[in-house]
Amino acid sequence: MVIGAGVIGSSCAYFLARDGHRVVLLDRGDVASGTASASGGWVILHARDEREAYRLVSESRRLYDLLAEDAGVRILPTGGLSIASSPSELEMLRAQCERAREFIPVELLDRSNLHDLEPMLAPDLAGALYCPGDAVVDPPQVCRALMKRAETLGAQVLTHQPVVDIEVETNRVMAVRTMTERIPAATVVCAAGVWSAEVGRLAGVTVPVRPRRGHIVRISRRLVTRPMLEFGYEEATRPSTDGRGLEFVMQPAPSGGCLIGSSREFKGFEHNVDPGVVASVWTRAARFVPALRDLRPESVLVGFRPYCDLGRPLIGWAGPQGFLLATGHEGTGIALGPATGKLVADLVAGRILRTGYELGG
Ligand SMILES: Cc1cc2nc3c(=O)[nH]c(=O)nc-3n(C[C@H](O)[C@H](O)[C@H](O)COP(=O)(O)OP(=O)(O)OC[C@H]3O[C@@H](n4cnc5c(N)ncnc54)[C@H](O)[C@@H]3O)c2cc1C
Repeated sequence: MVIGAGVIGSSCAYFLARDGHRVVLLDRGDVASGTASASGGWVILHARDEREAYRLVSESRRLYDLLAEDAGVRILPTGGLSIASSPSELEMLRAQCERAREFIPVELLDRSNLHDLEPMLAPDLAGALYCPGDAVVDPPQVCRALMKRAETLGAQVLTHQPVVDIEVETNRVMAVRTMTERIPAATVVCAAGVWSAEVGRLAGVTVPVRPRRGHIVRISRRLVTRPMLEFGYEEATRPSTDGRGLEFVMQPAPSGGCLIGSSREFKGFEHNVDPGVVASVWTRAARFVPALRDLRPESVLVGFRPYCDLGRPLIGWAGPQGFLLATGHEGTGIALGPATGKLVADLVAGRILRTGYELGG
């Protein structure tokens, strides 16, 4: 049983179904109706700071190619950029490039190489780190493709079925209850994104995941052809950041146009668009892509990143026997979805005993 039909839950359902398990995937809304519907789709390989993180995301990128072939997931192999605004930032990117090279192919671009690649960028930017392995996906398309393929492998997908209770007996999960049904289950995977704390409570597990709100602006012009972010962006994703986390990030949207972001705020589930945040995102982006000064935001998406207080995803057994967490991916759930689904399937099959991303680990 998998709770949540976002990128994480659909990846889990797909890999579990491939292993021959009888999978039921439940969502309280439609497929991809949670954060997947208001997210960027950058599968970003660089911008990591430790070996294990590189390993996990590289595995995910490899699996995306498999999913393209086996499930019809559409992936644009664009490569991606971290941009330096000044010579001192370029020097720091040079050092990052050296570290990253141990794990993935990356190269440092000077100003003129950068402009050959992305002519709409401001001419005074100093250069960039270029990662050819980065790619872009459309998160709802990923969910739907995986779901469809899981169904052909025997999975059952039940939408508009909120899970309202998880039955636990003698410290073992027994069943899941929706408003209308009791569905027996020996294994329950909580892939409920920002709602994971709620679902965890049903099984008696405290899940330290909360919503971190983000704004992204959509435009219909394809001003850039690769995803890009400004040097320092990763700092804004750190647990210590409490402000609005406003940093430039832009990516081509697979369905056309571009997405421009982004912000990071702890505002509970406040879903309203904040015009002040949108204006700041736009001004920051125009520093990097001057053509935006002559355009206006066309639409705005507000989404919630599942932020984990441990500063990393939670993937592993937790609480009563049979209960598994696959959540807390913050701003990397699209990139890490396939690797997470595979880890969950490996745990359930007993191919591995631990992932290193456990709640208590
Ligand atoms: C603005 C923004 C930009 C982003 N850009 C990127 C990016 O470029 N690259 C990247 O890797 N990541 C990005 N992310 C992060 C990424 O979107 C998330 O990490 C990811 O979507 C989380 O997936 P999920 O499956 O855990 O959650 P969700 O997609 O939210 O899925 C959880 C599902 O659980 C269901 N659910 C909840 N409670 C219940 C219940 N009781 N019963 C049944 N179902 C339930 C919900 O309806 C939902 O469909 C971005 C996020 C935001 C907000």
